[in-house]
Amino acid sequence: MAIQWDNLKSKLSILADAAKYDASCSSSGSQRKRENGGMGNVEGMGICHSYAPDGRCISLLKILMTNFCIFDCKYCINRVSSDVKRARFMPEEIVQLTLEFYRRNYIEGLFLSSGIIKSSDETMEQLIQVAKSLRLEHKFQGYIHLKVVAGASEELILKAGLWADRVSANIEMPVQADLNLLAPAKTISEATTSMQQIATRVEEAKEDQKKKFIKAPRFAPAGQTTQMIVGATESTDSVILDQSQSLYKKYSLRRVYYSAYSPIPHADAFLPRGEPSLIRENRLYQADWLVRFYNFDASELTNAESPNLPLDIDPKTAWALRNRHAFPVNVNTATREELLRIPGFGVKNVERILQMRPFKKISLMDIAKLRIPLKRARFFIVTTDHNPDAFLIDASDLKERIKPEEKQMSLFDVKLSAASGDL
Ligand code: SF4
Repeated sequence: MAIQWDNLKSKLSILADAAKYDASCSSSGSQRKRENGGMGNVEGMGICHSYAPDGRCISLLKILMTNFCIFDCKYCINRVSSDVKRARFMPEEIVQLTLEFYRRNYIEGLFLSSGIIKSSDETMEQLIQVAKSLRLEHKFQGYIHLKVVAGASEELILKAGLWADRVSANIEMPVQADLNLLAPAKTISEATTSMQQIATRVEEAKEDQKKKFIKAPRFAPAGQTTQMIVGATESTDSVILDQSQSLYKKYSLRRVYYSAYSPIPHADAFLPRGEPSLIRENRLYQADWLVRFYNFDASELTNAESPNLPLDIDPKTAWALRNRHAFPVNVNTATREELLRIPGFGVKNVERILQMRPFKKISLMDIAKLRIPLKRARFFIVTTDHNPDAFLIDASDLKERIKPEEKQMSLFDVKLSAASGDL
């Protein structure tokens, strides 16, 4: 098929822009290597990212196959009733674009999603066609993330995982009541059924690899992710985090991505009109880290009086302020679990402290050398040379004393926190 590049360019501007609303992308976790005669190589750290003006992370070739859709999800700019300009790529065009962009070093992989054309299965088949052609015909070894279209059959989901590094079925909303309001054609169980099918096959493939069946096919080696839209309904952070925790436990998800709802043109009256709360989105990511890496239960991070995470302080510090009886913690004798709950103590630093303890007594200077923020941590710890005044931990103004200074939130702060786990 002859590719018309001018035509492709105008489609690209529509379909790359339309894809930026899907936050469920990152390339961590895949180890695919270049093979003889092939092209591409996925390193552990993965694909290049860019940031949309509203702060969302987007990959460089992150596109929709089409922004036509037969569904009418009210929060989506591509819904059937939207009057946006439409475009559609043929599978061969996406293959050529991916290869050309890769050769020019613009991208390290492809994130491909789509609106639903005619039926879920027909759409899914075309997405699979792209990935299969890249892998088999062009020996492309770069990263591929395929979206599992809502309602696609198990047979097609299992085919998608054969060619993709990662797959994702978006749950979109934390509870069915929210979907009933904004996307009545979708169900939570449809998304979780797809997640279960993927999780089962990922485990089977891993077992086959362990048993050293040399020819055992790989299946979505970077696992699966999902996306939840935040702020389009009244659902609280407590409800959102409960659902995330359940998804992690049941389906071994690599990530739940939280995407602050961005107002869209001609939006339904049910939908909020204001700016998306990126701080809320960030607090949810921090709480998500606490559940996955710090042994917190989602139910500990909010409570009945405050079902939403505080915006002015990180969720671990907020938990510590609500549980002052658990502090101060002696850094020289505390368990790993206790250390992980100290505000400012990240996972890596806790491991470093545990490694240091057999050889020396930990002082406040040692904590400072680990770059743990003392402004926050010092009220909650005991070291050889530091024992905070017992009254301080109960002081009514403790929150004000440890609160970070008011400043313009920077993407780099968020990235640093996400990379280091320092919460
Ligand atoms: S199915 Fe996906 S693309 Fe279609 S309207 Fe719903 S969210 Fe948008």
